[in-house]
Amino acid sequence: MRQNYFIKLVRYMKNVYYLERGLNKLSDGRVNPTYSIGQVVLPVLFGFLLRIKSFNELNFMIKNNEFSKLFPRGTKLPQVDAIRDTLKVIDINGLKQISQHTVKKSVENKVFENGTIDGYTVVAIDGTKFFGSNKKSCPECLKNITGEKTHSFHSGAVMSIVGIGPKLVIGFEMYKPGQDSVSKDEGELNVAKRLISSVVKSHKELIDVVVYDALACNSIWINHCKSLGIDVIVRAKNNNNNSLRFVKKTVNKTDAVEVWEDEKGFEKVKVYESTFTMDKVEQPLRFVKFAIKHKDKKRTQIMIVTTCMEMTLKTLFKMIRARWDIENSIFNNLKTECGLGHCFVHGGNAVEAVLCLIFIASNIMQLFLVRHLKEHFTTQREMVRLLLKGLYLLKFNAELILSSA
Ligand SMILES: [Zn+2]
Repeated sequence: MRQNYFIKLVRYMKNVYYLERGLNKLSDGRVNPTYSIGQVVLPVLFGFLLRIKSFNELNFMIKNNEFSKLFPRGTKLPQVDAIRDTLKVIDINGLKQISQHTVKKSVENKVFENGTIDGYTVVAIDGTKFFGSNKKSCPECLKNITGEKTHSFHSGAVMSIVGIGPKLVIGFEMYKPGQDSVSKDEGELNVAKRLISSVVKSHKELIDVVVYDALACNSIWINHCKSLGIDVIVRAKNNNNNSLRFVKKTVNKTDAVEVWEDEKGFEKVKVYESTFTMDKVEQPLRFVKFAIKHKDKKRTQIMIVTTCMEMTLKTLFKMIRARWDIENSIFNNLKTECGLGHCFVHGGNAVEAVLCLIFIASNIMQLFLVRHLKEHFTTQREMVRLLLKGLYLLKFNAELILSSA
């Protein structure tokens, strides 16, 4: 093999993101640990980069000494039970900082210099469930009881960059029972508010526009984002907001302001719009309806409310379509390829720790793919295949050893 992509990946993680440095700084609550944090976390991180489907699969790789060439000779790596126990007490804020560092570094390296959609840097939020199980649970689990069955799960909201360029996860926030409302929409909105506040705190001036779904079509979300200096696009569905009902009626009586024939992916898109004011929101808002005729002649419509008063309708359309990215590519990818749907481990800090590691792995993979975009392959799957091949051909090389002191 001319190029060993696994070697390239390890160098990239060491030299561009200083990953070991961050890991070795993590503290934890263990007394006299048998394994260092690096010995615990690095195999998990490589497992996620190589798309393991379960912790058993990871255990198998560790037992087979498949990661042995990444550590000093004779290093004994922990089995999965020890990994689980350590993840429960791991320094979760330290892990989050490592995750933030990958994003900061990419911003420093000007990855998002020209924005992601028509010059704007756009992010999307989605609420999702993690690690659902009918068998395993922990005290922090949320529960759905149907008949005799109890389904235990965790939930939260994830924010990622959408549009052109690497689709980085730039933050996630867990639903907190007791603090967040039990009503689904209200609870998720509260989680999302915390999420965007914390992302803005760690990545100042990165985000121009946030796209979110209909549960956020209200003054609470719009005012919260505006107070952070971020523009808002939200879906407007069957909302019971009076001002929204009124503007919908108004727009229905007007003629289309723009018509796009052969719009990418669609046969025809007719656009209607009007400005309006919403109760408890100081600034005027814009209501836009995209009436879409699909290639199979089916008709659908997307309605949005936005604070972007000057933006072109085409750009708005691109942004709301990019939100489908987060559902279609990012979450599907994470759920099907990275084990986000599986019950890896519950209890203590473990759920957040595993999510954090999945997102770090996903971000590194996204950035690594973009870096090697001009080479022959294009898909993540092809990259994973090449990485595995590279790992098996790997020989001891002092330069590649990961310090896990
Ligand atoms: Zn749990």
